[in-house]
Amino acid sequence: MSTLWERYLAARQGVADAAAAAGKAQDDILLLAVSKTVPAEQIADLYAHGVRCFGENRASVLVEKAKLLPGDIEWHYIGPLQSNKVRKVVQVASVIHSVDTPDLLARIDRIAGEEARRPRFLLEVSVSGEESKGGIPVAELDGLAEIADKCENAEWSGLMTMAPLAAPEPVLRGIFGRLKSECDRLERRFGRSLPLLSMGMSGDYRTAIACGSTLVRLGTCIFS
Ligand SMILES: *Cc1c(COP(=O)(O)O)cnc(C)c1O
Repeated sequence: MSTLWERYLAARQGVADAAAAAGKAQDDILLLAVSKTVPAEQIADLYAHGVRCFGENRASVLVEKAKLLPGDIEWHYIGPLQSNKVRKVVQVASVIHSVDTPDLLARIDRIAGEEARRPRFLLEVSVSGEESKGGIPVAELDGLAEIADKCENAEWSGLMTMAPLAAPEPVLRGIFGRLKSECDRLERRFGRSLPLLSMGMSGDYRTAIACGSTLVRLGTCIFS
């Protein structure tokens, strides 16, 4: 049986190989270790090896784990975000991946100001149009992007999507390729850099990197 660190190294190698195949350096792609299913001890184990970026999808769990662990961890919030949990998340998270409504965005920006925090955030896009998934439809993205561009405290840094589980390769390429082209288009439209293109999970990160991902969110391939 492999250790946690060995599995992390294997995932990191997988990301490096996919990056190389896409003509990129390993450092061009952030590996976010999605620790949502494991206790703080396992995060501490990877932390001891130098890993600093972890992803959580529940506000209360994020807060609990952050209390138990060193302050220089970069926490990413990747789950659905209820309005009454925004303050908790803003107090702890460096990056919020799952912004998909104007109300949520306005609240994050206001509370970030009150808390003197400057979280980065991504607009979550539902490229596949699956009702069950979070994310704003592509057709409504520009309206939300206009609000994102004007935020004063939180910093709009890119886009995020989730592909349907076990989608065939051509479908994945369609979804990830579309998010990449939307990100490029919005960079031109707003004249700003959007460096974080968050797409790719354990089952599909190679395809996501081939399509231009700069941030992969890996859970099961590291932690189970
Ligand atoms: C759980 C989760 C992941 C990690 O998925 P794996 O398939 O376990 O790698 C990535 N992104 C989001 C939004 C998640 O909720």
